[in-house]
Amino acid sequence: MSLMNKTGLYIHVPFCGSKCNYCDFNSYVGKLGLAEEYFACMQREIDLYRKEMVYNNIGTIFIGGGTPSCVEHRFIGEILDAVREKYNVSEQCEISIESNPGTITEEKLRAYRQYGINRLSIGLQAYQEKLLGFLGRQHSSEDFISSIKMAKNAGFDNINADVIFGIPGQTMEDWKETLNILAGLDVTHISAYDLKIEEGTKFGDMQEAGKLIEMEDEADREMYHYAIDYLRQQGFRHYELSNFAREGRECRHNLIYWNCLEYLGLGAGAHSFLQDIRFENQASIEGYTDYLMRGEKPVEERFVRDFCEKMSEYMFLGLRLIDGVNRDIFEDRFNQDMFKTYASKVEKLKNQQLIETDSHGIRLTSLGLDLANRVFVEFV
Ligand code: SF4
Repeated sequence: MSLMNKTGLYIHVPFCGSKCNYCDFNSYVGKLGLAEEYFACMQREIDLYRKEMVYNNIGTIFIGGGTPSCVEHRFIGEILDAVREKYNVSEQCEISIESNPGTITEEKLRAYRQYGINRLSIGLQAYQEKLLGFLGRQHSSEDFISSIKMAKNAGFDNINADVIFGIPGQTMEDWKETLNILAGLDVTHISAYDLKIEEGTKFGDMQEAGKLIEMEDEADREMYHYAIDYLRQQGFRHYELSNFAREGRECRHNLIYWNCLEYLGLGAGAHSFLQDIRFENQASIEGYTDYLMRGEKPVEERFVRDFCEKMSEYMFLGLRLIDGVNRDIFEDRFNQDMFKTYASKVEKLKNQQLIETDSHGIRLTSLGLDLANRVFVEFV
């Protein structure tokens, strides 16, 4: 299905049972009591965007978090009902939900299927108990295996697993085992993220206190390239820096982001890109609900970009894709030849062997995958 003329819808569920040691997502612990009010406010937010969304055809919905699976499933069902009633949702809409092992039951998964959810994402992160404990995850690898079984029993045939490499203390053998287990479980999509230690997280504090040392670059890159080679052999297509999919199972929602297409984000801290404007919601749950109780859109910040910034954004998002940026599509969109617009940058990055080009477009080389940020900053 082509994504052109389709809009994405993101729904943020900011609740979590506990905070993982590496997490800098907009998620809150101990606030599940606010869920009823939060989703009631989201119903108002849906109403407030009816006018903007009247001509948009929603091709993907992504319910992310936080941990969407830690709230009662009826909240999710009610939001999806409202979205279908008030917006135009395409019949073949991809509807994904994120979940964590230990927070899902077969009953919940069956309810998700009834609500039309057709893609499930499960956070495994690592298969070894020692690493799960170190990351501050609240589940075991057994919980993950049983989540996959329950998901299949409930009728999910499109399942993603999130995993992390570059964890201090993780060995190459651990990483190989994690990927091997996933390949054997017949998941259709794998997101493999490189651990980044962020300020304000427990790991960030530990690093500052000298109690955590990041994995050496060489070992980290070895894990990344092992994943690329191994998952390719197992029939996955490496289609974005961190993402691998079986044929036709790429995450259509995330493709909307990387192709700079429109999406509306609902919920605390959600980002949107609509009618050529990027904007961001108030991040705290209480701040978000306050706006909506007053009948106002909960928008905290709007970002106006000029023409050059729009082109740059298109380049650095598009270069995340393994197929890279296509010259004709760029020209259709901006009426410019990207090889002329970016002639000196392209020359420089080619000389550094970070990108390769042909008459169709530009893409990262194998070295460029390792040093992608160096390429992206050229376009920022
Ligand atoms: S479950 Fe996800 S969102 Fe929640 S704390 Fe852990 S990493 Fe963050």
